[in-house]
Amino acid sequence: MLIILLGPPGAGKGTQSKRLVQYLDAIHLSTGDLLRDAVRAGTPLGKLAESYLAEGKLVPDELVVKLIADRLSLPDCKTNSVLLDGFPRTLEQARALDAMLAEHDLSLDVVLALQVDRDELLRRLAKRSTIEDRTDDDPQTVAKRMDIYLAQTAPLVEYYERRGILKRINGMGSTDEVFERIRQAVDEARSRERSTDSFRR
Ligand code: AMP
Repeated sequence: MLIILLGPPGAGKGTQSKRLVQYLDAIHLSTGDLLRDAVRAGTPLGKLAESYLAEGKLVPDELVVKLIADRLSLPDCKTNSVLLDGFPRTLEQARALDAMLAEHDLSLDVVLALQVDRDELLRRLAKRSTIEDRTDDDPQTVAKRMDIYLAQTAPLVEYYERRGILKRINGMGSTDEVFERIRQAVDEARSRERSTDSFRR
């Protein structure tokens, strides 16, 4: 299965991704994690990306597209479920992803859009900034990341809705409650995938 998890900063993408990856035994492709690792390791990509991350801005499309393209072209992405977490984040990235998937004969099963009230997002991010010490969780950078999400990433909800593969997930409540909703949506998508496969045969 190939799944995208979409959501504004603080919606719980990271937490829910970890659970979903365990549930599906899937490959977790988080551009945020990969970029933070690259910055920590001081790689050429990390050096290019560092200031964008620190300022809460999106890293240029071509860099993240290459990061994902390199990973998706490895053979294990054909034989395992894959969860894309934090990618795509712009329409240009979504179109580049479509091209990559076509090239590797892969198809998207479901796009999960986590939905959380703005007040709750701000509350969660304020808590995370004290626990995880992420410098991009300070209030000013958070405000910028929210604006960028609304302007650049939120349009992807409609992009995938038009394709009929979007599933809105209520992201309010406990981690367990939210995961249960995600699990149901994924199980539904999985049974659709199975019936399409048997239809094809
Ligand atoms: P995240 O952990 O998903 O919240 O991402 C943290 C930061 O990494 C973002 O604020 C961006 O600076 C950068 N980033 C992660 N994913 C992307 C992406 N798909 N496109 C551009 N920048 C990204």
